[in-house]
Amino acid sequence: MSKIFCGWLLSLLLVFSVYAENVNPSALPNLKRPANPWCVPLVSRLPKVSLSDCQSSALQASGAVSHKGFPLLIRDVPANDISDPSARKQPIRILLIGGIHGDEKTASAIVFKWIDKLNTAKDKSANEFHWKIAPVVNPDGLLATKSTRVNANGVDLNRNFPTPNWLAEAPQYWRKKTQSDPRRFLGKAPLSEPESRWIFNQMEQFQPDVIISVHAPFGVLDFDGSGTPPTKFGRLLFNRVGVYPGSLGNYGGVHKDIPVVTIELPNSQQMPSDAEVARIWQDMLNWVQENISPIKVASK
Ligand SMILES: [Zn+2]
Repeated sequence: MSKIFCGWLLSLLLVFSVYAENVNPSALPNLKRPANPWCVPLVSRLPKVSLSDCQSSALQASGAVSHKGFPLLIRDVPANDISDPSARKQPIRILLIGGIHGDEKTASAIVFKWIDKLNTAKDKSANEFHWKIAPVVNPDGLLATKSTRVNANGVDLNRNFPTPNWLAEAPQYWRKKTQSDPRRFLGKAPLSEPESRWIFNQMEQFQPDVIISVHAPFGVLDFDGSGTPPTKFGRLLFNRVGVYPGSLGNYGGVHKDIPVVTIELPNSQQMPSDAEVARIWQDMLNWVQENISPIKVASK
């Protein structure tokens, strides 16, 4: 190869690399930019959730952000038109929350799988409900170098809800029953954290008929509030875990009388099989259909 040709090739490569470094993707209409830039960090932590699963979940930034500034994401899925409008005045409203504890990775991942089921619309009853879905309500905990139960401020968000007598009961419970376990630190005041405030605001604005919150790894179902608890979702059986000062179940179920189902998956790192993911979803839909009444919305 001649020296002249080599020099020409080198200049061409140099020009191209300078261009590649400075190019603005928005100026190139044919280059697709990701619709949801948050998906790249999220899927790096979530078992069995692909980038396309996350992109097609169509989550939106709510405007609120976590302690470290990560957007708190939500998907609003209004009910489809109901064929017989006289049969039901209002759709049942479901607030579905995943990953309030950031190190329970499957608790967020499974919610992405259920959004996909909702998107593919094979189940009619799922589309009769009005959903608000937030699969990653503690993004800082999930995205920490080593994922943490608590948020970036060291607070267990599931102890930070304003249950009655929080100031008297919650600190005492934390000191005496948990021996001041830092993984269960309740925060300095109820709703001291942006993530718990955001969930609280969703409850106030959306007025859900039922709240479903996904955790791991106890492998059971829990239920707070009046009404009939679920007996079985997939392989998960009803078995009370407990009621804690400042927990979402205590605040929503006991204090606000909104039924709160806590789903505890059996493993926080490994997803259940696809068949089990589908069974839990289907059993959950059936239970909501049979046990939750939308009539309460009108009287709230
Ligand atoms: Zn948990």
